[in-house]
Amino acid sequence: MRLDRLAQIEKLRLLYQQSFPAIFASLFTAALICVVLWHVQEKTVLLGWFFLLFMSSVARVGLFFRYWQIQPGAKVLLDWEKPYIATLLVSSLIWGVGAVVILPEGSVLHQVVVYFFLVGMSGGAIAMYSAHRLMTLATIGSILLPTTFWFLLQGTLISTALALGALLFVVTTIHAGQVLSATMHRSFRLGYELEDARDAAEKRAYEDALTGLNNRRAFYQQGKEMLEECKEDARQLAMIISDVDYFKNINDTWGHHCGDEVLKEIADTHLACLRSDDLCARLGGEEFGVLLLVDDGEQARKVAESLRCCLENAEISCGDHEIPVTASFGVAVGRQSLEALFKQADAALYRAKKAGRNRVVCGFDENERETAADGRPALMSRKVRAQELVPDSAPTGCE
Ligand code: GH3
Ligand code: MG
Ligand code: MG
Repeated sequence: MRLDRLAQIEKLRLLYQQSFPAIFASLFTAALICVVLWHVQEKTVLLGWFFLLFMSSVARVGLFFRYWQIQPGAKVLLDWEKPYIATLLVSSLIWGVGAVVILPEGSVLHQVVVYFFLVGMSGGAIAMYSAHRLMTLATIGSILLPTTFWFLLQGTLISTALALGALLFVVTTIHAGQVLSATMHRSFRLGYELEDARDAAEKRAYEDALTGLNNRRAFYQQGKEMLEECKEDARQLAMIISDVDYFKNINDTWGHHCGDEVLKEIADTHLACLRSDDLCARLGGEEFGVLLLVDDGEQARKVAESLRCCLENAEISCGDHEIPVTASFGVAVGRQSLEALFKQADAALYRAKKAGRNRVVCGFDENERETAADGRPALMSRKVRAQELVPDSAPTGCE
């Protein structure tokens, strides 16, 4: 439905883009007919008809100029359909009804010439407006039917043959126009389907399927851009890595399905707690990452601390079970590479786990540097068993 509407909009846009010259072709043809009939028809009738056509053309040109001036977007483009049809219909009626009026009574040759012009005009109109079925039928009906009836009413063999021949021509051309229109519709639709598929694939490539957050790839890609951004001003890039505490227990106690629900709620809690400019991602499993631009490390620590409190206070549940959740945080701040920041934040996270979990440790803290200076590896195995980690300080309270 949406794709059909978009295809309809594209076809209308095409009409506005392509059919402007047709206005002048129509006026030129009318002028030619006036020249041909100049000596066999009253000049006031011819000039009156031409004047009316001229005025309707002015209205159409005005409409096109207004369209180009406003350049309406896809949302409002269909509002431009009615004025297009209305001005085209008026112009076509002047052509069709006027043609009956200007047909010279006494000269069959001139009548046939005018009729041929009309049939030619109709063929052109079918080709031009085939994108729009209603427009095609209205235009052809208005231009050709009055004269065709006139010829049929004459009752002679020649006039009847002419009228039937013209009708046959128009019917087959309309059919060809419909085929063209359907093909055009399909190709516009296909274009939008491809666009949708590309957008979905792009989204999948950078989105975490479970939580809808950015994935690791997006985290690094956008992180590089943020790094460039902070090199241009005095700010620094802060990286906050978190890991949910004892998440395995949640899976074991309430089942994997509840584990998934909890991860989704943790993601929502991150988004609710952060500013819209901050980048939040699920890095994998029950690990999350946040990137933001800060003036100094303290600012980053405060954000990490507020995230920690948000999670601690979040009312996360699965079915009837309320599930308490906490996470440990490692923070790094600087302008070095993302890899270096990650290494520092990861080491800090490890220390947060070791210190008892549910706390924030900053890689830039003095004790963290001392730890590194101790000779202990900054980046220890992430798979350290919970029982090996000994608490050494309590987290600060959340309000
Ligand atoms: P710690 O406090 O030391 O981080 O303990 P932990 O239990 O959180 O750590 P561990 O790394 O041993 O366990 C992480 C668990 O997360 C193991 C894995 O089964 C689970 N997990 C990883 N990805 C998903 C997921 O997408 N859904 C669910 N439900 N569980 C996941
Ligand atoms: Mg983990
Ligand atoms: Mg964990």
